[in-house]
Amino acid sequence: MKFDTKSIHEGRKPDPLTGAISTPIYQTSTFVFEDYDKPGEHDYSRTSNPTRSALGEAIAGLEGGHQGFAFSSGMAAVTTAIHLLKAGDHIISCDDLYGGSHRLFSEIMTKFGLEFTFMRLDDEEKIQEAIKPNTKMIWIETPSNPLLNITDLEMVSRIAKDNEILTAADNTFSSPYFLRPLEYNIDLVIHSTTKYLNGHSDVIGGAVVTSSEELSEEIQFLLNGMGTNASPLDSWLVLRGIKTLPLRMKKHAKNAMTIAQYLSDHPRVKEVFYPGLTSHKGHEIAKKQMDGFGGVVSFKIDTNVVEFLRGLDIFALAESLGGADSLVEHAATMSHASMNEEVRNKAGITDDLIRLSVGLEDVNDLIEDLDKGFK
Ligand SMILES: *Cc1c(COP(=O)(O)O)cnc(C)c1O
Repeated sequence: MKFDTKSIHEGRKPDPLTGAISTPIYQTSTFVFEDYDKPGEHDYSRTSNPTRSALGEAIAGLEGGHQGFAFSSGMAAVTTAIHLLKAGDHIISCDDLYGGSHRLFSEIMTKFGLEFTFMRLDDEEKIQEAIKPNTKMIWIETPSNPLLNITDLEMVSRIAKDNEILTAADNTFSSPYFLRPLEYNIDLVIHSTTKYLNGHSDVIGGAVVTSSEELSEEIQFLLNGMGTNASPLDSWLVLRGIKTLPLRMKKHAKNAMTIAQYLSDHPRVKEVFYPGLTSHKGHEIAKKQMDGFGGVVSFKIDTNVVEFLRGLDIFALAESLGGADSLVEHAATMSHASMNEEVRNKAGITDDLIRLSVGLEDVNDLIEDLDKGFK
């Protein structure tokens, strides 16, 4: 099946009981055994639930993975994946990753004996140098948040395979419609389904997609053991959202490109970060590995940030991204406030940086709104 068809049919079968075409929300904690020592396919909803399994299958289908698992949040997915490791292990992570992942790694997981090196993953030699005998994982976000830096997945996975290191790619920003990291030999894909996969700003959720049976068993063991699973209702909402993923992603990317070009030409704008622009330093790699450039545009302005934000009407001042509604945020005080100032500045997340999640509105209205902000 082609992607658009998969978005609608992967993981979904008509309900065997009633024929319902919409996967039922199996809102139940437990499942009655057929007999002594004979559980059915599901026995307890933390371990597995039919609505959640359908979502896992749908996402795995889109990513081309072995199995997919749905979690209560993107952070629950990240937390579960990082628990594949143990005390004493070393992880190389990109340095401008999602603020919450950075906080989890640097302030929580270090308490349990994991060791991290945060660095830009754009230089083969530097990555080689950062590898230690105890390096067990490389954590990638591409495009990264909020600067849309691009990591060459093929290059990183080649280094990792040579050194028997696991690779995990947070694919939240692209969604599988634009990028499927497993095609580049990445081992694990992570999602905050809160963003594009659900797409309607009404769920907090996450997902992990694996590339092998062994990893699937480990993730299922951790999910069940840690209780990081998604609820049936949230799973259903994300399943519904995925049906329109291709349509939404196309419009997000088209609007974002138009806005990136508008900003590039604007005299009050110092720098625009969008991988679709030929001026973006990751453009060539993005063009090679992605089918489109996504809906997030960041930029730096040389005018008053607060006044600009207050001048906007349609762009709502809010964290998050990937929904139908356009959002604007100030990374330094909002999404990346959990990073300390020094780390933030080093990663290029300065006080003049603004991030847009370009929604599905008419792009002319969005540009008019930005004009108002500048005025
Ligand atoms: C939002 C986000 C997360 C965390 O997801 P939640 O659903 O908010 O827990 C992780 N990674 C990226 C890239 C994100 O944008």
